[in-house]
Amino acid sequence: MANDLFNTFMNGPDENGRFGDFGGRFVSETLMPLILELEQEYEKAKTDDSFWAEMNHLWTHYVGRPSPLYFAERLTDHLGGAKVYMKRDELNHTGAHKINNVLGQIILARRMGKKRIIAETGAGQHGVATATVCAKFGLKCVVYMGAHDVERQAPNVFRMRLLGAEVVPVTSGRGTLKDAMNDALRDWVTNVRDTFYCIGTVAGPHPYPAMVRDFQSIIGKEVREQMTEAEGRFPDTVIAAIGGGSNAMGLFFPFLDDKEVNIIGVEAGGKGVNAKMEHCASLTGGRPGVLHGNRTYLLQDDDGQILEGFSISAGLDYPGIGPEHAWLHEIGRAKYVSITDVEALAAFQLSCELEGIIPALEPSHALAHVMKIAPDLPKDHIICMNMCGRGDKDIFTVAKALGFEMGAFA
Ligand SMILES: *Cc1c(COP(=O)(O)O)cnc(C)c1O
Repeated sequence: MANDLFNTFMNGPDENGRFGDFGGRFVSETLMPLILELEQEYEKAKTDDSFWAEMNHLWTHYVGRPSPLYFAERLTDHLGGAKVYMKRDELNHTGAHKINNVLGQIILARRMGKKRIIAETGAGQHGVATATVCAKFGLKCVVYMGAHDVERQAPNVFRMRLLGAEVVPVTSGRGTLKDAMNDALRDWVTNVRDTFYCIGTVAGPHPYPAMVRDFQSIIGKEVREQMTEAEGRFPDTVIAAIGGGSNAMGLFFPFLDDKEVNIIGVEAGGKGVNAKMEHCASLTGGRPGVLHGNRTYLLQDDDGQILEGFSISAGLDYPGIGPEHAWLHEIGRAKYVSITDVEALAAFQLSCELEGIIPALEPSHALAHVMKIAPDLPKDHIICMNMCGRGDKDIFTVAKALGFEMGAFA
């Protein structure tokens, strides 16, 4: 692939949407013209200064970018080794990194003259971000959400409805994120003319993995500038949690060609990466297959049936992982590890107690890995972890896990 020619990790995917053996366009004949049109429009927008000018304006005035780069001093002292920085993407409007990408796709949808936006959502974070931006632009918004998730995530369902979105409970399959994504793809094929499909992570058929990565790369670009200002150099290690892998790709991508920067992705280890598949670690515990239009590592049984996986963090339980991560894993440019529910809960509490930051359970996984490695690293080693979401949405889950009864505080 072209990467070998230019000795860079940063110009993938190839013209077929492939990152090595991963990615691609595994879609039906009916879907093919839609994704080819999208690719064409995105290629045009990408090199158009007015597109990025609109993004930058909204990133600044609507989202609140740049997000701060914060030196976690008490946490660093507590761990006694490497210097720990947090990229504060939890301070974005709507509380996570999702909106970085949603803005890009919806500005593109508007350029394409689309009036109806559809999205899939698992825990509801991407659904809320999409409903938010649709409200801002007066676009119709339909969010597909597994029936099981609709029940589990009532506050986000209500948020989406307040924002004017229609939430469609999906009962096919097991009624979770995977099934919601299938139904959204079906909707797109039936409503080709006026509809834009806004995907929430670096998954799906080409061009989605590359496009979502490009929009999220604002995270890593800011870290490059902010760390240079704070420390006069780049971090030694960057760490992020992985569901589908979009916040991680956003932090990692701008550093791929800086070979001295260690890159670590943290998957959800649930109850442990075991044979019973009570985890969501697609790279550490899965194998390659095809899902949602691309080839990547998936959680599957011996017959190739996709498994649901398990994690305390609803935002990490996608049974696949973005194809670019699968490639970075195979060529060894990034390292992937897993963190259990118990370890993530401990990191969640430590961040609250030492830094006054209530993190989402997803970045708590990244922080838990920081806690593992920082004590053994020298004091001049700089780690930057992506604090990609705030924990307000997770307090009920955490209370339950820690044995608190919410009513008992009264
Ligand atoms: C959705 C979500 C994730 C997982 O998605 P990625 O595409 O892997 O980033 C992680 N953290 C938070 C806070 C989320 O909302």
